[in-house]
Amino acid sequence: MLSTLIRGFAGATDGRFYRVSPSFVDSALPPGASVIPRPTFAAWLRAGPLVLINTPNTIWALIAVCMFECVPYDLSRTGPAASAPLSAAFFAARLPLWLGVWLGYTLWWHATLHWFGFAERPFVAAREYRPGRVAHNLVWSVSGVVIWTGFENVFAYLWATGRLAYVDETAWSSRRGALHFCAALLLVPLWRDVHFFFAHRMLHFNALYAQVHSLHHRNTDVEPFSGLCMHPVEHLYYFACALPSLLLLTTPFALLWNGVHLLLSPGASHSGFEDHWQADAYHYFHHRYVSCNYAGTDAGFLDVWFGSFVDTLKPTDQKGCKPRPDAKATRARTRAGPPPAAYRETRSPMRMRLGSARGGGGGRGSRCLRPATLTRPPSLEFAAYLALSAGCVLAWAVAASDVAAGAHAAAPRLAAHLAVLAGFGPVAAASAVTGITRSGGGAPRGGPLKTGLLLACGTLFCSVPVSWACYLALQPPGEDV
Ligand SMILES: [Zn+2]
Ligand SMILES: [Zn+2]
Repeated sequence: MLSTLIRGFAGATDGRFYRVSPSFVDSALPPGASVIPRPTFAAWLRAGPLVLINTPNTIWALIAVCMFECVPYDLSRTGPAASAPLSAAFFAARLPLWLGVWLGYTLWWHATLHWFGFAERPFVAAREYRPGRVAHNLVWSVSGVVIWTGFENVFAYLWATGRLAYVDETAWSSRRGALHFCAALLLVPLWRDVHFFFAHRMLHFNALYAQVHSLHHRNTDVEPFSGLCMHPVEHLYYFACALPSLLLLTTPFALLWNGVHLLLSPGASHSGFEDHWQADAYHYFHHRYVSCNYAGTDAGFLDVWFGSFVDTLKPTDQKGCKPRPDAKATRARTRAGPPPAAYRETRSPMRMRLGSARGGGGGRGSRCLRPATLTRPPSLEFAAYLALSAGCVLAWAVAASDVAAGAHAAAPRLAAHLAVLAGFGPVAAASAVTGITRSGGGAPRGGPLKTGLLLACGTLFCSVPVSWACYLALQPPGEDV
């Protein structure tokens, strides 16, 4: 038992980290051709207690603990966090830290796999290295790190000004502190699994896919910097995973650990290789086929439940896995045929234009999809939606800065309107723009019950936390401040 744990430490296979594939992989088959075992809820629960020992969570958790101990939050009344929900002083202190951690970790994966050849089973044989695509992914990822720092600033502001309660005892100072610290350590990775599925699935509904998530899917074949390459509105909802820190009385470590997980885990899961200790064929299939495998690897049972589980590359993609250039720009050049029935989620007439072998997000929606490059100017549709969605959040930011400067509260009705605008405005704007441009894409809706459930959970996990945090920031300071 102990030797098994040691050999699988941090997700290793037989004690090896590179040039070793997950146990289900048959190395005699082409990369991606092995069949992923069907995930089950029971297996997910059974693996839960060991999630910090025999999965890559070990490394991320160690990084989070080091950050929390070495660069703790300053939640004093006179600290930068208390001055404003978006404070230049807070950003000056925290943004370089987050950029350094994220860049160091992701660059390690990019360099070892794509420059130094530490792995030898790429999903796409003879992959062409495109610096322009990497630069594109870097720019949108850095925007994500900035937005995360904004999330952290808002939470630190709420705590420091008494607008949100938190556990201020450290793990070492009391039994209560230790309990909260250990609970956060163990539960954050499990919560991330659940949140990611529902947030990701909502981003695949027609309008949100067309205006927001299609940017992430510009990378049909992935590399580590494509992991956090998302539209700013996707970052907004992806980082809404911080919901438990709003709902529950938690230690600030829970938020920081959540942030480390959100920023670092996409790096290796978008590696593009099958034979290393954080390889993620499951999510790779999602980028190849788009309308399947919405969950992270660990929570694949959710895809089984909702009928979107795909366990291998289809036969025409297994012969060396031909390079499939980035979606959108290349649909006319793609020679592969439609996917077999096993790769289709429903009988919806949308299916052939959604997530098909055309490179994902095909059909008429393709015109809103752009290649992963910075050399082409954005479309008018992209720029208009970006401006509209930014306006939804900026209106709140201006009011919140005013509230912070005057240490008062916004008028109740105004606070509610601005909070709803920040959380739900980007969704409404996506629907409006998509309705005008008649673009679209993403995934089939399925039956009304399934669609309703997915939309309800998506809204609860994406828009509601953003609105709630924004609303709290417009309230008066707590009495203890
Ligand atoms: Zn992805
Ligand atoms: Zn997706």
